[in-house]
Amino acid sequence: MTIQTHKRTCSLCEATCGIAVQHENGRILSIKGDKDDPFSKGYICPKATALQDLHEDPDRLRQPMIRRGDDWQEVSWDEALDFTARELMRIRDQYGRDAVASYLGNPNVHNYGNMLFGPMLLKAIGSKNKFSATSVDQLPHHMASLQMLGHQLLQPVADIDRTDFLIIMGGNPLASNGSMMTVPDFRGRIKAIQARGGRVLVIDPRVTETAKVADEHWFIRPGQDIQLLLAVLHVWVHELSAQLPALPDYVTPTDLSAICAGMTPEHAAERTGISAEAIRRLAGDWLSAKSASGYGRMGLSVQQYGGLCQWLIMLLNIVSGNFDREGGLMLSHPAVDLPAILAARGSRGNFNRYQSRVRGLPEFGGELPVSVLGEEILTPGEGQV
Ligand code: SF4
Repeated sequence: MTIQTHKRTCSLCEATCGIAVQHENGRILSIKGDKDDPFSKGYICPKATALQDLHEDPDRLRQPMIRRGDDWQEVSWDEALDFTARELMRIRDQYGRDAVASYLGNPNVHNYGNMLFGPMLLKAIGSKNKFSATSVDQLPHHMASLQMLGHQLLQPVADIDRTDFLIIMGGNPLASNGSMMTVPDFRGRIKAIQARGGRVLVIDPRVTETAKVADEHWFIRPGQDIQLLLAVLHVWVHELSAQLPALPDYVTPTDLSAICAGMTPEHAAERTGISAEAIRRLAGDWLSAKSASGYGRMGLSVQQYGGLCQWLIMLLNIVSGNFDREGGLMLSHPAVDLPAILAARGSRGNFNRYQSRVRGLPEFGGELPVSVLGEEILTPGEGQV
């Protein structure tokens, strides 16, 4: 009997923690955090330990199943793949390409095989009814990046290991481990900010897990974040312009002034429930911090002004001089630079090249919003899923 240790990555969420799996002839003895992982440094959450339960669950499907009548029968992979290919072609030939819809959930982007081959399969099927978890929570990020940075996948992230002031709006990274910014051990990283004299402010209608460990939590009325963001900009432009760092070429003071015209802290206070005095304090602290990082997540995205909120968060990081610099909101340099590769092929992102059949909602980045999937299945007519 040999005891072996395999170093792997936990695939359960985008924090991608390193794990060390010790096993003896296939029987798992332990799953621990991999201290040598440069990213997670030994941190794991309880879900990683529970991977053993998933692996050993007697109810876990270990082979493909096909329903025949009321029965489910185990079949070989060959049979399952032949059946799937045959049926896909039959449905496509009989009802057209759009009759086949796909929905990709999060685990697909944690699996290199699916990332490599999933898009090819979908391209071969050729249906415009492509859906994914992206349209549930993060399209506003991609829209803002497409509009401001020229590529939908250029996603700046908060440099939380070096920032002096972290402002979190509508996000709960302690529970999500930093969705869109991938931060294993968020609790430890917040403590590190505080230990080096920095501060964390959470602005959220709910007392989230993150709010409980932050230095301050401000309640904000749901859906009013845009008022606060515009008011901060208003204070900078009209009250603290002398303290603003030099603006980059692509930002003009006249534009800034026009964007936040009339959006005073008093106006925002009435709508957000945050006092004008607190808004002025936030604007001042954001500017005077050695480095600051504004991070807005789902709470900002899934509301009426989601796209504008993400656009404004990016703008505030730019205007305060914190964009793409240490401690601010930074662009990453991945080993595989997907945006650069795609841009070289002329692919930067798209919006509204076609629309959904029933409600006419626009596509983004080659997929339709999943909010239309139900009606596309239920509404008869040509192109029905
Ligand atoms: S935070 Fe938990 S679930 Fe997410 S990758 Fe790390 S161990 Fe896995």
